[in-house]
Amino acid sequence: MDLFDKIAGLPGLHEQIVSAGRDPFGVCMDKMCSATEAIIQGRNVVLAGTNNYLGLTFDQDCVDAAHDALDRLGTGTTGSRIANGTYSEHRRLEDDIASFFGFASSMVFPTGYQANLGVISALAGPGDYILLDADCHACIYDGCRMTGATVIRFRHNCPEDLDKRLKRLDSKDTNKLIIVEGLYSMFGDIAPLAEFAEVKRRHKAYLYVDEAHSVGVFGEKGRGVAEHAGVLDDVDFVVGTFSKSLGSIGGFCASDHPKFPFLRFASRPYMFTASLSPSNVASVTTALGRLRSDPGLQETLWRNAHALYDRLSAFGLTLAAPPSPIIAVKIATQEQAVMYWNKLLQAGVYVNLAIPPGTPNSTSLLRCSASAAHTPEQIDWIAEAFGQVAEEMHAYEAQNAGRYLLRQSAE
Ligand code: PMP
Repeated sequence: MDLFDKIAGLPGLHEQIVSAGRDPFGVCMDKMCSATEAIIQGRNVVLAGTNNYLGLTFDQDCVDAAHDALDRLGTGTTGSRIANGTYSEHRRLEDDIASFFGFASSMVFPTGYQANLGVISALAGPGDYILLDADCHACIYDGCRMTGATVIRFRHNCPEDLDKRLKRLDSKDTNKLIIVEGLYSMFGDIAPLAEFAEVKRRHKAYLYVDEAHSVGVFGEKGRGVAEHAGVLDDVDFVVGTFSKSLGSIGGFCASDHPKFPFLRFASRPYMFTASLSPSNVASVTTALGRLRSDPGLQETLWRNAHALYDRLSAFGLTLAAPPSPIIAVKIATQEQAVMYWNKLLQAGVYVNLAIPPGTPNSTSLLRCSASAAHTPEQIDWIAEAFGQVAEEMHAYEAQNAGRYLLRQSAE
């Protein structure tokens, strides 16, 4: 008996992946040069897997705001807001987020992961029903586990399946919380939120939308897919993160519900952890201001996303969803995806390798995220690297298919 028996298979799996070259899950950026470039093992690499959609991590205003906060407020808060106090900057950021969405209030958390844990676990409890899109992020699943509620998964992005499952609950006098995302992080597909909102209204359920990847990306004002679909008023809880478009770390939930602020006294992942550091709060507050005042950021992001998408689809690559800033290339096998990933890094492009169990339908993906900070030359560089590697991979596959045929005929 060994505590580590549970993960006994992992060293072998890790070795299998690493033996193809580098460790895709342990890449070290020796130096960050900008929002879109890093030095990795002495080589200059264009970053195409950052989630840095608006490219604000090196924005001068955001960096200056963080410096100023460090000087004025120190490096950390050293405690939770319940026990050790709130800084007025936390309050200001919460007010800004609430006003951005047009909701009455918001709460911020140290990460997006904790925002989901903290809100779901405080909202739902035994006797309640959570209706969960099957492709929701791991932290939403983890939040659901903390509730004691009955969790019913419905088919990804399928309002009809949700409707069918809710119908079965219509006769029950119970709370029903529907949880979906706006833009899904792996395939880059968006939720049909207008249809989900209609189902929600019909069954008198609550609607919770995680817009982690869609804030700053969708909607006229950058408020996400619900705004884009014209149903923000139907959303009871909008959740998001500061670690993508807002270029920092942290998470939030905003709501119009009058009792929402009392979740502060019910949410363990809010109460029993230290609050966001002053420099994070400052850079996020400034980034949110940039997002609100500069629609050009979103336009540049989409221009880059379309340019990359069009180039990759012209190579005949299989893309997982229609154009969005998440461009996921489907690769037939995990082994090929690992080879592909290594060759891309060799060619000076970093993308995310996404393999089961972290992906829907056991798919292997090379996941790119476009950024407003990518220059046209960088988009070209990324596309050309994909083209070159795709050719090498075709040659490799043809050779292997040949070997396979030879082996078969010898058998
Ligand atoms: N929600 C979704 C949909 C996500 O994709 C992620 C992380 N990628 C999170 C929440 C967690 O956010 P964070 O990394 O900021 O903790």
